[in-house]
Amino acid sequence: MVGNMPVIDTAKCNLCGLCVSICKCGILVMEDDKVKVVGSVDCERCTKWCNACELVCPTGAITCPFEIVLEDSRD
Ligand code: SF4
Ligand code: SF4
Repeated sequence: MVGNMPVIDTAKCNLCGLCVSICKCGILVMEDDKVKVVGSVDCERCTKWCNACELVCPTGAITCPFEIVLEDSRD
């Protein structure tokens, strides 16, 4: 796993498969009863803050290693 790829806590994962279904770039796969991140380079969608997998996960098992910071435009 490298750079901005999501991190999956397999201890929290209940194998519902929602993240695999929602990922538009296909880098999340269900394999050997585990969700895995495949690919050896940073996913372009991940680096553009898709974070759909993190949002859809019902158990909080996925963490995207970035956060969206909203700047206050009233300054
Ligand atoms: S952040 Fe988006 S593109 Fe990256 S693994 Fe999650 S759902 Fe897929
Ligand atoms: S959405 Fe969460 S609980 Fe469901 S398979 Fe993906 S990581 Fe596991």
